[in-house]
Amino acid sequence: VKNLVIFGTRPEAIKMAPLIKEFEQRDQFDTKVCVTAQHREMLDQVLTFFDITPDYDLDLMTAGQTLHGLTARIINGLESVLDDYHPDFVYVHGDTTTSMAASIAAFYSGAKVCHVEAGLRTFVKSSPFPEEINRQITGRIADYHFAPTETSKKNLLLENIDDQNILITGNTVIDALHYSTKKAILLETDEINALKKLITNKKKIILVTGHRRENHGKGFENICNALSNIANSNRDVQIIYPVHLNPKVKDTVYDLLSSVENIHLIPPLSYEAFIWLMSHSYIILTDSGGVQEEAPSLGKPVLVLRENTERPEAVDAGTVLLVGTDTDKIIRETTELLNDKKRYQAMAELHNPYGDGKACARIADFIEQITHK
Ligand code: UDP
Repeated sequence: VKNLVIFGTRPEAIKMAPLIKEFEQRDQFDTKVCVTAQHREMLDQVLTFFDITPDYDLDLMTAGQTLHGLTARIINGLESVLDDYHPDFVYVHGDTTTSMAASIAAFYSGAKVCHVEAGLRTFVKSSPFPEEINRQITGRIADYHFAPTETSKKNLLLENIDDQNILITGNTVIDALHYSTKKAILLETDEINALKKLITNKKKIILVTGHRRENHGKGFENICNALSNIANSNRDVQIIYPVHLNPKVKDTVYDLLSSVENIHLIPPLSYEAFIWLMSHSYIILTDSGGVQEEAPSLGKPVLVLRENTERPEAVDAGTVLLVGTDTDKIIRETTELLNDKKRYQAMAELHNPYGDGKACARIADFIEQITHK
């Protein structure tokens, strides 16, 4: 069975890495990895940590790239990869432009398309933000759908996807987290040592991340104003913010926050250092999908800086709270969580609705079964 795993961004790499590892352990699979490198540096950090060397590297990232150009270059670039390897199954992940374009390319080449992290939906198709339409198009093309939760399976059934082509697996991010916590314990990297020096003992750490296009501009301005206020009025907290490399994020954040005392702006962390920092944080403020899924496993409450979510499971379970990007609301909710110990404990102690770390084994078993029929 010939597998081709295609991805382009940091979160996809984190969530596909354990699947590649799982395939590599099974003799019946021949597995190759293709990166589009939609993101370059942040992707490479993850590949190094998981010890993955891509068989094909399209290296497509350009300065100021648009989604139009990127989509075209991905489909074009993948043609020769698919011609060269002739995979039986192509695996794409989630909602990126790489996943959407790779699905189309794989379909044109006659490979079966497998969608990992399938069935997430906001049901809000708000142009020009790509995620919802990317995941819907990928879902339309995919032959097999690996849904992380019961809710994501239900979304797919509502779109008339055949029940027998859907498998609930849990999210592979938990597999990655297990792998990394095992490996990171053994690591005393320079980066982790630098973080240890940065952390002021006894201060509660608020960890912040953000990257979403829907928050570019006004959203990030509001978030930064809230962070500045929180840092100024709570001397017992320390805000640590690894800033995404997209200039639309980075420029705003450095402009508004670089001189605020109590806020440390740092470059994006390697995956292992980020997990280390998460586990030493008190509260996490983020618009990231992956971070929301990881945090409950580490017992960390998350305030989500978005107006809507394709991940209602954690909101329903109570481990995350949707606070949006209104400055006052972010300040209010963060302050409440800092001061209300009972509420904090209630959020921190809940179980993770995103799985048990065996998602990749379930996916590999499923492919074994359908190829043996
Ligand atoms: N992450 C990382 N370094 C950082 C910030 C985040 O390795 O400085 C990891 C994090 O653990 C999670 C993933 O990147 O697994 C989330 O990526 P991102 O927020 O960029 O994308 P999303 O999950 O929203 O698609």
